[in-house]
Amino acid sequence: MNSDFSASAARSLTDLPQPESYLLRATAADGTLRLVGVDMARVVEEARLRHDLSKTATAALGRTLAASALLAVVLGKRNDARVTVRVDGGGPVGLVVAEGSNDGRVRGYVQHPEADLPPRESDGKLDVSGIVGHDGELAVTRLLDNGEPYTGSVRLQSGEIAEDVSLYLGTSEQIPNAVLLGVYEEGGRVAQAGGLLIQAMPGVTDATLAQLEANIAALGMLTDQLRAGGLLGAIHKAAEGLDLRLATEAQPVRFACRCSREKAADSLKFFGPEERQEMTDAGGQEVFCHWCSETYHLTPEEIAALDEGEARARA
Ligand SMILES: [Zn+2]
Repeated sequence: MNSDFSASAARSLTDLPQPESYLLRATAADGTLRLVGVDMARVVEEARLRHDLSKTATAALGRTLAASALLAVVLGKRNDARVTVRVDGGGPVGLVVAEGSNDGRVRGYVQHPEADLPPRESDGKLDVSGIVGHDGELAVTRLLDNGEPYTGSVRLQSGEIAEDVSLYLGTSEQIPNAVLLGVYEEGGRVAQAGGLLIQAMPGVTDATLAQLEANIAALGMLTDQLRAGGLLGAIHKAAEGLDLRLATEAQPVRFACRCSREKAADSLKFFGPEERQEMTDAGGQEVFCHWCSETYHLTPEEIAALDEGEARARA
């Protein structure tokens, strides 16, 4: 491993090596199966660089980011529907939070990006359940049709994320499903990352489910499939013998935060005039966005403009 890598590359977000991340949708077995897959190595690599994530933290956040992108498609009815996945397992990485939108935007963070664990002794794989912990819950928040937020949750089963997301869909949303998630690091950077979610629709036959189960067992590790045949290859494997129909063109997926300089300045309105004066006297104020690790350095002039804005609003 090249230990200098993360330090030297941490500021080169515009120079990411992987192709664009994207999402594919398909149906199979006469529409009784819906498949959504996402290839997001580039997005997860960007998350790693933005937050300076350890290897195992990268895997934990990467899986959760992929889950949020897939759930936004499955659960989000309106365009731009957002879904937030929050994993609180009591492990060293702390909270893992990801937000996906069905227009392809995702963002996310972990509480302790530096936390790491050695690979598992049993199989040499990154110890995601160890770093996430499994004494806690996975919660999913989405907006209902009436605009009200709805949060459902399940107790964590494994802390491996995929199993926990699958349990959530099955119990809280009553959607029979299979979920595969994976992140693979090579040479200190994200080489493969993605997810595949298969949803069984009403009318699905036992024969279809049996075939699907056999296909998924044969598929093995998702990251191996992504490396061998890409996302399309993985989808074909999952739907082998089930008359796969790709439903739409690939949808770009990107790490996109909703923060801005304006919103950062607005956040200072929570402070009183005296506290803002102190910020001005100190030469300005930094506002940090935990979703994307962007720091906004607000100038005394920008802080003073907030006072003027409020004076105008009162007048
Ligand atoms: Zn942000």
